[in-house]
Amino acid sequence: MNKPLDAPLQIRSIPHVIGGREVAGTSGRHADVFNPATGQVTGKVGLANEADVATAVDAAAAAFPAWAATPPLKRARVMFAFKQLLDQHHDELAMTITAEHGKVFTDARGEVTRGIEVVEFACGIPQLLKGEYTEQIGTGIDSWSLRQPLGVCAGITPFNFPVMVPLWMFPLAIACGNTFILKPSERDPSAGVLLARLLREAGLPDGVFNVVHGDKVAVDALLAHPTVQAISFVGSTPIAETIYKTAAAHGKRVQALGGAKNHLVVMPDADLEQAVDALIGAAYGSAGERCMAISVGVAVGDIADELVARLAERVRTLRIANGTDLAAEMGPLVTRQHLDKVSGYVGKGLAEGATLVVDGRGTKVEGCEDGFFIGGSLFDHVQPPMSIYRDEIFGPVLAIVRVPDFDAALDLIHGHEYGNGVSIFTRDGDAAREFAQRVQIGMVGINVPIPVPMAFHSFGGWKASLFGDHNIYGPEGVRFYTRMKTVTTRWPASIRAGAQFVMPTSG
Ligand code: NAD
Repeated sequence: MNKPLDAPLQIRSIPHVIGGREVAGTSGRHADVFNPATGQVTGKVGLANEADVATAVDAAAAAFPAWAATPPLKRARVMFAFKQLLDQHHDELAMTITAEHGKVFTDARGEVTRGIEVVEFACGIPQLLKGEYTEQIGTGIDSWSLRQPLGVCAGITPFNFPVMVPLWMFPLAIACGNTFILKPSERDPSAGVLLARLLREAGLPDGVFNVVHGDKVAVDALLAHPTVQAISFVGSTPIAETIYKTAAAHGKRVQALGGAKNHLVVMPDADLEQAVDALIGAAYGSAGERCMAISVGVAVGDIADELVARLAERVRTLRIANGTDLAAEMGPLVTRQHLDKVSGYVGKGLAEGATLVVDGRGTKVEGCEDGFFIGGSLFDHVQPPMSIYRDEIFGPVLAIVRVPDFDAALDLIHGHEYGNGVSIFTRDGDAAREFAQRVQIGMVGINVPIPVPMAFHSFGGWKASLFGDHNIYGPEGVRFYTRMKTVTTRWPASIRAGAQFVMPTSG
């Protein structure tokens, strides 16, 4: 298995996709795209201006009436064809992720799989859009409720899942009859273009799905454009909160998913080997650049010494390499700037008085000396006021906090501003049940480290991890991308009551 993969698809100049055409845009501004494993620039992506965004919105608005009027079954057939193409291009998509994000190829394949599952869910859209009907709500009167698409929707996505997070959004938005503009992360933009090509090949009419690359300028233009009806955002909490407020102020429907600091509680009765495996995979997988990564291990009672000793052994022997190496367990971070930030946090943790058990700084990978690599770091005796506990580091840094008992673990979790995911490892069913019931977090794992809901459920955190009223994908996605209409009918042959001036009742 340990052989290098073929070179990933190189896209030197990464285009926008507007109205079915790949275009350069008019701003003249661009950003470099790097291969994080080598540190080299591999592409240039145009950063859209207001005019480019307006062109994309016009294309999406023009495509909307015909697409909304297309029977859901026909929209589903496009999704079936898209799913088949995603399967055929699974490795190419994964290689594109590894080439611009850096995560290991095997993990990138998993990301693509989790995205495809949302497309599979969207294939069931005729069933999902069925409304409710009541015969005889009053004498001779029937009523039904239906869900209709919103119009032009936009999605703004983070760097850490360049395939999966866009697929959390647009398959459902489109299957519901909307048209869509994706604004991918400017750090790994190529995957969005590949997805657009596959949708076109699947038979999606031009303009239904558009990709506009860019930064704050493009995002602000989407938020302010009066034609855009709904904004889906996934990214860091400060930006999520701003997006939520700004989009809502412009009268748009908005779901804005933010950052996280996920805890994994290890109870004294847990299967320690299972808990160690879980912590290693969830803290260091994808170099910690996952919103559902575990960044805090909560050691309850007297389990801490043994837990930390076993973790340290494993962190020191993580296989760190170019993500194209099939034996690699951890690849580089996404940018040099992010590498500096994560390294800085390791220094801060030391200065704040935590015990640095394993120091990942200074890690070099042979043949990739200019890559953005850092090894796994492990802190023990971390205290809640420390920045390495409070802040989302988004790197391979695991903080162990020691607490005396179950209640102290819950108090610790509840004191944190984020509420995305949480997990408990225990053999005690009572403790697990009470934990699931009491914990103030959106997604809970019982002996499962990364409890990301499947596509037919919905994903969303609490507190500073989600702004808005709807979780993303699954049944909540259908609700977000549609609005309800209720029709009440009476036909002339039924009773003629004459003009009525009192509130109608069913009597
Ligand atoms: P980010 O917030 O920097 O960027 C997200 C998107 O917002 C990108 O498309 C970016 O171009 C855009 N953006 C950045 N700054 C902006 C600004 N000032 N105004 C308008 N738009 C702006 O996030 P990131 O670094 O790409 O991704 C990592 C973050 O995403 C982490 O905080 C992670 O926890 C979070 N995340 C959350 C989830 C979730 O489901 N809750 C999932 C994945 C990632």
